[in-house]
Amino acid sequence: MLPAAATPQEIAVLGAGMGGLAAACFLADAGHAVTLIEAFEAPRPLGSGLLLQPSGLSVLACLGLDTALLPHGARISRLYGRAVGGKITLLDVRYAALAPRLFGLGVTRTALFETLYTAAQARPIRLITGAPVTGATDLDPDGSGGFVETAAGRFGPFDLIVDASGANSPLRAQVGNVRRDRPYPFGALWGLVNLKDSRFAPDVLDQRYQAARHMIGVLPVGGNRAALFWSEPTATLGDWPHADLTAWRDTLRRLWPETEPLAAQITEHGHLTPARYRDVVLKTPIAGRLLFIGDAAHCTSPQLGQGANLALLDALVLSLCLSGARPLPEALAHYARARQGQQRFYQWASRWLTPFFQSNARLLPWLRYPFCALPCWFPPTQWIGAQVLAGVKTGMFSRIDPGAWAPAYRLAPRAYRRPQDSGAPGLALSFSALLAMEAGGESSDGFADSSGDTGGSGGDTGGGDGGGGGD
Ligand SMILES: Cc1cc2nc3c(=O)[nH]c(=O)nc-3n(C[C@H](O)[C@H](O)[C@H](O)COP(=O)(O)OP(=O)(O)OC[C@H]3O[C@@H](n4cnc5c(N)ncnc54)[C@H](O)[C@@H]3O)c2cc1C
Repeated sequence: MLPAAATPQEIAVLGAGMGGLAAACFLADAGHAVTLIEAFEAPRPLGSGLLLQPSGLSVLACLGLDTALLPHGARISRLYGRAVGGKITLLDVRYAALAPRLFGLGVTRTALFETLYTAAQARPIRLITGAPVTGATDLDPDGSGGFVETAAGRFGPFDLIVDASGANSPLRAQVGNVRRDRPYPFGALWGLVNLKDSRFAPDVLDQRYQAARHMIGVLPVGGNRAALFWSEPTATLGDWPHADLTAWRDTLRRLWPETEPLAAQITEHGHLTPARYRDVVLKTPIAGRLLFIGDAAHCTSPQLGQGANLALLDALVLSLCLSGARPLPEALAHYARARQGQQRFYQWASRWLTPFFQSNARLLPWLRYPFCALPCWFPPTQWIGAQVLAGVKTGMFSRIDPGAWAPAYRLAPRAYRRPQDSGAPGLALSFSALLAMEAGGESSDGFADSSGDTGGSGGDTGGGDGGGGGD
């Protein structure tokens, strides 16, 4: 379904996380020789659950994996939030504002990881585990190939090294062109709980806020379970293993009485895992033959729940950019241009929004009423809020429509018209919306979309927001 590579390359992918596994699968499908290098002896997911957006699900659909994953997760229709003890809704964002059948998928990291890992194992990918990457050398694109240094030895030469080793990429500090790399002042405790005996809706990501000091969330992840999260300043996050559990449970119950049956399940400190976030911006994700994708390139706070989705889209776009016959530096430059609008938008939005919900600020919680609550009342701003949540924004006034390459995740309410029905070219051609994200709306490598079905969805998604074109 995806275009095959005109010039198959030797590619190393570092890190078997969301972005690395998806990239390895796409690149192997395109005909590249892929080596996947992972630090752990047995690759494994870290953390409890996450929310996959229509954008991320559309990428899984391109690998034929979304339908396998859906039964293991919870279809989320709405993000809802209120202040502790407050009656006024502060956040109410519904996917239905875009299309009635659209949803996010709350899913355990284990389910997502296993789906991707099984797919990678079924492909001709050379997997090297127990090999924490420590460095990369010979990255000059005019040289004869780059090498990956690991604790288990040196591997290479590779035409391209894709660093998908996540937020703490060791290569970013060594060879990355870093503009910003700083920790967020707040992190969170995350764990899985059973929703049995609770009154939480199975399709709502529900949140409560005590000023901005505490943010508590319940995200259903399928199988009657939910990811429970509790935000905490990073300065005190390290104290969690010694915290008074009874006092913590009492605080949780006092702030949000409905969590009583969930709080009762946290009987050991190990039931919740601390997570810290970083704000990472690269001037360019390219360092010669090395490319940073996913969190290694643009780690952010999960306030908007987009990191995994961005990593999945990175993987898809990289594979598309490498499929042409252009020299590697040009293909990588195209990738960087195509991805920068969306990455920057979500990093900016997360950076801007996070202090309203996770900080010690006194004024910001009040400003949530005009800036967050009010827009939830009006259809035009509901529509924009739903686009932000769905992971399809590529700039202030632009977006993509995943329906262009994965019909089930189309933003428009009307039914998808298959390209063959309209005499238009095949589905692969509609990837132009992705490739043109920052290129002014026009694909420059032959993925011209003559189906008229780029991000604008044939003009039926409400218009005025830039369609699938540039910023
Ligand atoms: C608490 C929390 C909640 C989140 N919620 C959401 C959400 O709801 N929705 C969402 O979209 N995103 C969410 N995110 C963000 C999301 O988890 C990340 O953006 C996503 O996992 C990034 O994928 P990645 O492939 O870039 O990195 P990762 O998934 O972190 O994978 C990195 C891989 O590299 C390996 N590795 C690390 N170092 C090395 C090394 N030196 N050598 C070799 N391998 C190495 C790791 O073992 C791992 O397998 C959340 C993040 C956190 C912390």
